[in-house]
Amino acid sequence: MENLRFQAVEKASEKRPVEVITPTDRPSEYFGKKVFNRAKMYKYLSREVYDKLIDVIDNGAELDRSIADEIAKGMKQWADENGVTHYTHWFQPLTEGTAEKHDSFIEHDGKGGMIEEFSGKLLVQQEPDASSFPSGGIRSTFEARGYSAWDPTSPVFIIDDTLCIPTIFISYTGEALDYKAPLLRALHAVNVAATNVCHYFYPDVKKVISNLGWEQEYFLVDSALYAARPDLRLTGRTLMGHSSAKDQQMDDHYFATIPERVQAFMKDLEIQALELGIPVKTRHNEVAPNQFECAPIFEETNLAVDHNMLLMSLMKKVAHKHGFEVLLHEKPFDGINGSGKHNNWSLSTDTGILLHGPGKTPTDNLRFVVFIVETLMGVYRHNGLLKASIMDAGNAHRLGANEAPPAIISSFLGKTVSDVLDHITESDKDALVIKGKEGVEIDIPEIPNILRDNTDRNRTSPFAFTGNRFEFRAVGSEANCASAQIVLNTAVAEALTDFKTRVDALIAKGEEKFAAILSVVKEDIKTCAPIHFDGNGYSDEWVAEAERRGLDTEKSCPVIFDRYLDDSSVKMFESMKVMNRHELEARNEVKWETYTKKIQIEARVFGDLSMNHIIPVATHYQSQLAKNVQSMVNIFGKDEALKLADRNIALIREIAERTETIEKGVDDLINARKVANKIADARERAVAYHDTVEPKLDKIRYHIDKLELVVSDELWTLPKYRELLFIR
Ligand code: ADP
Ligand code: MG
Repeated sequence: MENLRFQAVEKASEKRPVEVITPTDRPSEYFGKKVFNRAKMYKYLSREVYDKLIDVIDNGAELDRSIADEIAKGMKQWADENGVTHYTHWFQPLTEGTAEKHDSFIEHDGKGGMIEEFSGKLLVQQEPDASSFPSGGIRSTFEARGYSAWDPTSPVFIIDDTLCIPTIFISYTGEALDYKAPLLRALHAVNVAATNVCHYFYPDVKKVISNLGWEQEYFLVDSALYAARPDLRLTGRTLMGHSSAKDQQMDDHYFATIPERVQAFMKDLEIQALELGIPVKTRHNEVAPNQFECAPIFEETNLAVDHNMLLMSLMKKVAHKHGFEVLLHEKPFDGINGSGKHNNWSLSTDTGILLHGPGKTPTDNLRFVVFIVETLMGVYRHNGLLKASIMDAGNAHRLGANEAPPAIISSFLGKTVSDVLDHITESDKDALVIKGKEGVEIDIPEIPNILRDNTDRNRTSPFAFTGNRFEFRAVGSEANCASAQIVLNTAVAEALTDFKTRVDALIAKGEEKFAAILSVVKEDIKTCAPIHFDGNGYSDEWVAEAERRGLDTEKSCPVIFDRYLDDSSVKMFESMKVMNRHELEARNEVKWETYTKKIQIEARVFGDLSMNHIIPVATHYQSQLAKNVQSMVNIFGKDEALKLADRNIALIREIAERTETIEKGVDDLINARKVANKIADARERAVAYHDTVEPKLDKIRYHIDKLELVVSDELWTLPKYRELLFIR
């Protein structure tokens, strides 16, 4: 029988692009078609209810339960008109994906028939049977069930026949069991703290919005080839596979022409994303073969996070239609670039000021400096925690490799901003501040409005300033952006709060406002200097230098999670009212458990593949070689045959040695797992998996990859890198 690999290669090569029917409307017309957005709220709700709901969305007013029924009715009417029969509370459990349980609208009418119903009660709160979502023990300790509650700030949308309602997921005792609840709290904290600081400069600011523009990287692999790779299917990455003779060394993929089948996929994805109100804008090839990127226009953070979650699930669906599987894993292939999700982040006011962007007046520039410096303060104080927020088993492969951000959080500022900060710290106080009585003149050098300059970009920095925002590049491609955004926004909220306390203290002592601000900024520039690094983040010198600077250089994923429970972290989360110690402990349990499970699954799949694919194929080839040697002996006699067949004999030996090493290695791997599995403590178990199980995979893999090079191509069963990466 022809092996599955060749069938897959044949199938994949024959595929043609799937035709995508372009809507007759323009994108601007079908944008948000499947979203209960403001225009639809206006159409389907009474003026009074509409105003109240907008007040909830824009100003965080309390949701008046009495209007919930009418909102539900309006939503239902819109849903009916779109052929919707079901609804679901859509939430983001700690498993990284999204969860939904669909219910239909039908209810008994009490007269033997059915009616369709959707009440305010069903909209506002649900009790999904959530016992199987990870909770880190919160629910069992409190013997309370979780419930989902409507988040009116993220609009309801339609997928197929289902009305999807974005919700938070919390326990009855109020602890967060998801990403959205703490994210909303963090966004509130940064809004309050930043608004207060804004008042020094602009008294009319009522609200500060956190913006997020993510860039989603991903790989596409043909579905037939994927099906023939159990490791991809079960773990999201290839656990073995020799590198392809050609991969990314020619730099010929990045920004190159998009392959036809992929182009069709992207087109389809974009149409559907736009209909769902996701403002996708950019698409291009990425560095590695079969790697691509998609990015929307930035939005308010909570909405942007929901849109990213939605896009990731949409991508999987659309990919199937086009005969692809989308790989969101951070490192699906060894030796070539992995995938990240750059989080472009900034703060802006309801009055339209971009707080991380320079302005035209000296006041604007001082405000700019304050927000840059206090962001750096937050990042500096919590650099280990920020790293923890983006770390998991998948992203651990990417960080530290020679492509993506290193496992040390630092910030690139570029020459212009660096010079401004230097100027402030170096000049003496008098030169700096006030000239004239109320007319303060702030001697901050000119900051060009357009700071973005491609020559001044540093791809190695995990947290780079890029002109009017910071780009957090260390986020993993599969992650929920909320994890990073919770920590970042909370850390900056804390820094801004602390900043204001100190400035106010100086003002209370009689110091002029801008002088007070400058003197605190000056102090903070010095304090957070260690986080500022414009050099090469991949160099060995940087690791040594970062250690000297006291930055977190820990590399072990389960140990990095400890940062969530540092006193400084707990204090930050509690004082900003984002999470309490108990929630943090529970969430860490989940992180350690997830880490262990991921490595456990990888180790199992690895063992199976080694024993069921690699060794049988290698031994089979070995016997073919042995037969050949035997025939040679029959023909030429022993002495001559041994000479003539010496290459085959060497191969027979190599295969014997490598298969033995692999077998022993797999035994070792199983034993290491057994030992680790006996450890009761979740953290210790994860550490054991990290220290004693995980490293074994790569050691064994080395021999498997070598076998792939010598065993006859015809016998090899797993699709090779060159096939996975170049057939499309
Ligand atoms: P790159 O050159 O890094 O690919 P892009 O111009 O494609 O950058 O933008 C990447 C993302 O950053 C987009 O989602 C974009 O909307 C977003 N972005 C732009 N300006 C801001 C800002 N001030 N705050 C947050 N995100 C922003
Ligand atoms: Mg970018």
